[in-house]
Amino acid sequence: MRLNPHLAAMPGGYLFAEIARRVQAYEPRAPRPIIRLGIGDVTQPLAPAITRALAQAAEEMGTAQGFHGYPPDQGYAFLRQAIIDADYAPLGVALELDEVFVSDGAKTDTSALPELLAADARIAVTDPVYPAYVDANAMAGRLGDYVNGGWSRLLTLPCRADNGFVPELPTEPVDMLYLCYPNNPTGTVLTREQLARFVDYALRTETLILFDAAYKAYITDPAIPRSIYEIPGADRVAVECCSFSKSAGFTGTRCAYTIIPKALTARLDGRAVSLNALWARRVACRQNGVSYPIQRAAAAALSAEGQAQVAAQVQAYIDNAHHIVAALQGAGLEVFGGVHAPYVWLRIPGGQSAWDFFDRLLHQAQVVGTPGSGFGPAGEGYMRLTAFNTADNTREALERVLAVL
Ligand code: PLP
Repeated sequence: MRLNPHLAAMPGGYLFAEIARRVQAYEPRAPRPIIRLGIGDVTQPLAPAITRALAQAAEEMGTAQGFHGYPPDQGYAFLRQAIIDADYAPLGVALELDEVFVSDGAKTDTSALPELLAADARIAVTDPVYPAYVDANAMAGRLGDYVNGGWSRLLTLPCRADNGFVPELPTEPVDMLYLCYPNNPTGTVLTREQLARFVDYALRTETLILFDAAYKAYITDPAIPRSIYEIPGADRVAVECCSFSKSAGFTGTRCAYTIIPKALTARLDGRAVSLNALWARRVACRQNGVSYPIQRAAAAALSAEGQAQVAAQVQAYIDNAHHIVAALQGAGLEVFGGVHAPYVWLRIPGGQSAWDFFDRLLHQAQVVGTPGSGFGPAGEGYMRLTAFNTADNTREALERVLAVL
């Protein structure tokens, strides 16, 4: 047996596993319940329109007429049409049904989409970054060797306070660039002009952009692009990954979708190849889709009733984020994000390292955050706080944090 050496060479301890280990070790000694503002999981129950559709579809599955076997490879047309009508038509973005691919998660898709590329394709990510992008490419052997805390073939684009958390354009050729906005972990967004710079760059250099819009539901200002396709020309260079996880509470229910426009082509042996057709081929051979009840539930989240219900849930998380920002800023701390995103990026006061500050908040305030360094070297000196807890827990957590700073 010859193992995958790239998988075997992965650095140990996924970030959230290490956090869980430290919290579990401390919890029996904690003087009061621990409040978690760490992992990005939602806490509100599924909205009534969603659970109703889920239950109805489950009942249907138990009848001769309503039984559904394997779903269509790209997802049921009713869901793909609902996605186009609810998420893209209002933005003035026209899509065809076969440009939408339904899947079980944006993590699945953002990890798998590099399979469109050559085995030795060069990848660029922002630093800090959602770790799944890096891990998936490292396991596939695209990132070279892991030395001194970094991958030798990975191009990283630092996002710091001094560049307003807006990455510079890549300074060397890459095949694919991951952009995630609203950003996990910093909670920052790109303006239309800033995003247009990346689209122009990609058009000029024939670079693929993987745009992760998992948090687009948190954008409250129409001037901020919710989709990269709001930028002219993006349909020729970008794929876009979206998810029902954070917009409709589907982290445990699992449904997401990816857009691959038919205008998106790349040259192979002198001819133009459609990425949409390549992905359709790949999907047909690798997966059997998302179950009928779950796709019905996702479509219900996009119905008028469902949209109103999930918007109220998202608003509650946004209110939490605004509270976190206001409380920390009120105490004179420097914070970023948290306006169009469920994440607040706190600059750690006093120059403590991110893991030391994590331990201090855990042991003194019994509050869990996520150390910024876990998202990449440029995250050192920062802590990510999430807005996904209840309003009461969020308020109490902030009181506790401010009491120990
Ligand atoms: N993309 C980003 C940037 C995320 O932060 C997350 C989850 O935290 C995901 C994707 C995963 O989404 P899904 O639950 O659809 O797999």
